Amino acid sequence: MIDATHDPARRSWVESANGHSEFPIQNLPLAVFSPLGGAARGGVAIGDAIFDLAAALEADLFSGQARDAAEAGAGPVLNPLLELGAGPRTALRARVSELLDAGGADRANVLPGMLHKAAECALHLPVSIGAYSDFFAGIHHATAGGRINRPENPLMLNYKYVPVAYHSRASSVRPSGHHLLRPNGQRKRPDEAAPTFGPTRNLDYEVELGVWIGPGNELGEPIRIANAARHIAGFCLLNDWSARDIQNWEAAPLGPFLGKSFCTFVSPWIITPEALEPFRAAQPPRPDGDPAPLQHLWDAADQESGAFDLEFEAFLLTAAMRDAGTAPHRLSRAGGDVLYWTVAQMVAHHTSNGCNLQSGDLFGTGTLSGTEPGTAGCLLESTFGGRDAFKLQNGETRRYLEDGDEVIFRAHGHRAGFASIGFGECRGRVVPAPGYE
Ligand code: CA
Repeated sequence: MIDATHDPARRSWVESANGHSEFPIQNLPLAVFSPLGGAARGGVAIGDAIFDLAAALEADLFSGQARDAAEAGAGPVLNPLLELGAGPRTALRARVSELLDAGGADRANVLPGMLHKAAECALHLPVSIGAYSDFFAGIHHATAGGRINRPENPLMLNYKYVPVAYHSRASSVRPSGHHLLRPNGQRKRPDEAAPTFGPTRNLDYEVELGVWIGPGNELGEPIRIANAARHIAGFCLLNDWSARDIQNWEAAPLGPFLGKSFCTFVSPWIITPEALEPFRAAQPPRPDGDPAPLQHLWDAADQESGAFDLEFEAFLLTAAMRDAGTAPHRLSRAGGDVLYWTVAQMVAHHTSNGCNLQSGDLFGTGTLSGTEPGTAGCLLESTFGGRDAFKLQNGETRRYLEDGDEVIFRAHGHRAGFASIGFGECRGRVVPAPGYE
């Protein structure tokens, strides 16, 4: 629902929030942070500052459902808040917006100690992640990737019936800002008779929308697609780091394993469904000739507003660019309309066999790639499996990532009549593989 918290005219007395490209008062994303020397606790982004939920709670600034949410969100992980669902989360948003509103009646109750400079805080993983499933819903990515090995038949028969996914590794998810250790593994090029063990030669990233699950479901009780939105608590940027050579060699017949499980990065801010409300969009209609989704994956309301009108960008900052002080090179820009399946369809499919989701579970949507040049969300696509090198603006070339390369994702929502919001960055620098004695 669009309400007063989305009013583009609302300004904050936290001056840096007004016109902020990521965190104006209309966004109010959640994270777990620690101020210098302080314990980890929940907070809300407002411009260049973080509003401290624990401190505000102590000063008794909340009541009713907003208080329930602030209590659940004040600790070192946000699972209890995600578990509460939309009612308390929406009440918390309304109350925080009111407290930070330049015209708010009780802004004077927000004391200086309740705001921290974000640049002086550490941001952590916002939840304890029980399980992480990675989907494959970016249809142009699936097609372009499939074309490399199966030019005649890039999409498998199941693709338009099943929101294809695999179980990935929850324990190796890290927040933006960590280093990415180049993984070792078994690699075999087509021209090699046998594999060798060593650092991956084909390190790649994948631009994805991450989804945080809120209230879970009991084992054996599927989430109906019409109810799926109640189980989605927020969104983030997700980098599904991928070692293509390890992945290619190991994947038959059971799918991705060590080529993916070494690490996944997420942006630390949980962008709530409420913040994204202005950027909802109709799911693009399926092309003529495509099968309709089976009944358990079909919901008319979800088709009307289950997609997101967001812009996703990936950038590369090489060691040479960093030394020269130049801006990062933009690798890609794509919209959210490239997903063949909605997030609600993913939730319904994931639980359709009775599988239980839990609050804090993470989904990746699959790589967000368009069809035009400059829209590929990974290097596998833009270099056709590493065949074609491409040139960066400073003259360097790349097929896959090199040590020292930094990959940066950003996402924004823009819509006429609303304040633009951003996800904050998802950033990571590749460092050399450890020795393996
Ligand atoms: Ca992926």
